[in-house]
Amino acid sequence: MRKKQFKTQSKKMLEMMINSIYTHKEIFLRELISNASDAIDKRHFRSLTDTALGLDMSAYKIKLDADKENRILTVSDNGCGMGEKELEDNLGTIARSGSLDFKSENESDEIDIIGQFGVGFYSAFMVADKITIVSKSLDSEQAYCWESTGADGYTVTPCEKDDIGTVITLHMKEDTENENYSIFLEESKIRELVKKYSDYIRYPITMMCEQPIQKEDGAEDAQPEFELVETTLNSMVPLWKRNASEVSEEEYNRFYHEKFFDFEDPLAVIHTKFEGTTNCNILLFIPKKAPFDYYTKDFEKGLQLYSSGVLIMDKCADLLPDYFSFVKGVVDSADLTLNISRETLQHDHQLKVIAKAVEKKIKAELKKMIKNDREKYDTFFEQFGRQMKYAIYASYGMKKDALMDLIEFKSSYEKKYTTLEEYVTRMPESQTAIYYAGGKTIDKIDMLPQTQAVISKGIEVLYFTEDVDEFTVTMLGNYNEKPFKNVSDNDLDISREEEKEEIKKENDDQKSLLAFMKEKLGDKVEEVQFTNTLDSHPVCLSTEGGISTEMQKVLESQPGMEQAIKAKTVLEININHPVAQKLKELYGKDDEKVEKYAKILYSQACLICGLPVENPTELSNLVCDLM
Ligand code: ADP
Ligand code: MG
Repeated sequence: MRKKQFKTQSKKMLEMMINSIYTHKEIFLRELISNASDAIDKRHFRSLTDTALGLDMSAYKIKLDADKENRILTVSDNGCGMGEKELEDNLGTIARSGSLDFKSENESDEIDIIGQFGVGFYSAFMVADKITIVSKSLDSEQAYCWESTGADGYTVTPCEKDDIGTVITLHMKEDTENENYSIFLEESKIRELVKKYSDYIRYPITMMCEQPIQKEDGAEDAQPEFELVETTLNSMVPLWKRNASEVSEEEYNRFYHEKFFDFEDPLAVIHTKFEGTTNCNILLFIPKKAPFDYYTKDFEKGLQLYSSGVLIMDKCADLLPDYFSFVKGVVDSADLTLNISRETLQHDHQLKVIAKAVEKKIKAELKKMIKNDREKYDTFFEQFGRQMKYAIYASYGMKKDALMDLIEFKSSYEKKYTTLEEYVTRMPESQTAIYYAGGKTIDKIDMLPQTQAVISKGIEVLYFTEDVDEFTVTMLGNYNEKPFKNVSDNDLDISREEEKEEIKKENDDQKSLLAFMKEKLGDKVEEVQFTNTLDSHPVCLSTEGGISTEMQKVLESQPGMEQAIKAKTVLEININHPVAQKLKELYGKDDEKVEKYAKILYSQACLICGLPVENPTELSNLVCDLM
């Protein structure tokens, strides 16, 4: 039996297409310019083997012309043109791409053709109610005119045209309450759209634009006169496609200012090519300062994604991991499998491969900066470091391999930023852990008895002044097999063996005194102990288990977390302080006084580590009693 061919309901298809494929009407111009560029590519390619067909390279161009009065926009090119059959085939059949055929017929690295789906042209019907095309093909003496008002079909008739190429005339729709079509006839809008979508089309896109007439005597005129001058609207050669060695710092900076609206120069530029199953050019910038909304929900990360010089996505978020969300830049690849609207990609895995490459490059650049320009890295870290620390925490430590060498903390060693690697390198062999102390400022941390105790033993302490710091290292667990230890941890392990023995014996001997004090303090503390690590301070609060008092403060400040897990605190009393002697004397003789001492000492310890005193009146009365 003879098979019957499916017939497309062209009319329905066209309507569907026109109204449902594209999110933005404005892309019609991108599509027409891309087609013109493809047509010039084809003509140039043909001329490689048949020189009579070509033009001088500098003569190729795409011309735009807006006639507001008659509501007409024309896009002309001197590309390969279309004959009668091609007009029928390519523009009379939806989803038929002459460009795709051309690409498959002419295998060559030289061709970087944009078209492939055979639908882009019809997007012009989103803004025009009638389209007229006059075209003369390379292969025919006769020119033809294609005309259509959209769904009703089209006509093709012979007509006059002198030179090879195509002129597309759009009769723009009338404005409605909701839609402003006139805007596409404005010079400023056209310039904007060309810049946005077609800036890197490699042929000049020109338009007659108004420019002030230059007076011969050079005098400035209060009311300058204007003349129409043919102006090129696109920059043509994308910076990222040039060789990194040929681009000056000044050019990078200018490009960055214009494209990413930053007044400052970038802190670093990464310009490279990635070659793999998907080839691409990558140009990235690390800004000097975080944008004002960087640490808010409003901030949108992403890189610009181009395919063959045409903008596909303005902020492609999938190209950047959250912890490098500060990076701005451009990725351009001719190999992307685009979806039909050319607004997104069909296959995620291409993006994933590129994203991996991007991440690697950024990481390498930052590591290089740590090594070669430490001060620069510190300024960078000051701006964006929190994001990376947060990522380690928020990923439950899964991102730690990527990030642990990039994070920094201020340190008691020279009071500067240090990386964990640097800290570990400075550690004496006998030191078993990486010590840190938390607090609002470095000065406040320095005042803590425990910090002083550790530093006085010659041990370097990291200052955790940001909320996220301690949570981050809790997720890291350890660095280079060295665990992190809070200086206020109960089993600090910085004393000599004899010292440890001594205090253990003391605590055993005074068991009942300590138990009495613990009983009087109730569940405020887990335990009361004597210690011999505090220099001259009478007391401190240390913690047992994973939650420190600093973490408790952060957790309590989160909405809904007021009842969060509390730190398990231990009240430590300095055995070498007169107050310890006094307690021992009083116990058994005047227990009421011991109870008062215990309460005062606990309140003092709270004050020192920045925890609120629960009952200030009681404290004040107790002190007065004893006075
Ligand atoms: P695509 O560009 O994806 O192939 P379009 O709908 O944009 O699809 O265009 C359909 C076809 O029409 C193109 O493949 C090309 O063969 C032809 N065409 C469109 N515009 C031009 C032009 N300005 N010059 C020559 N051929 C063109
Ligand atoms: Mg096209």
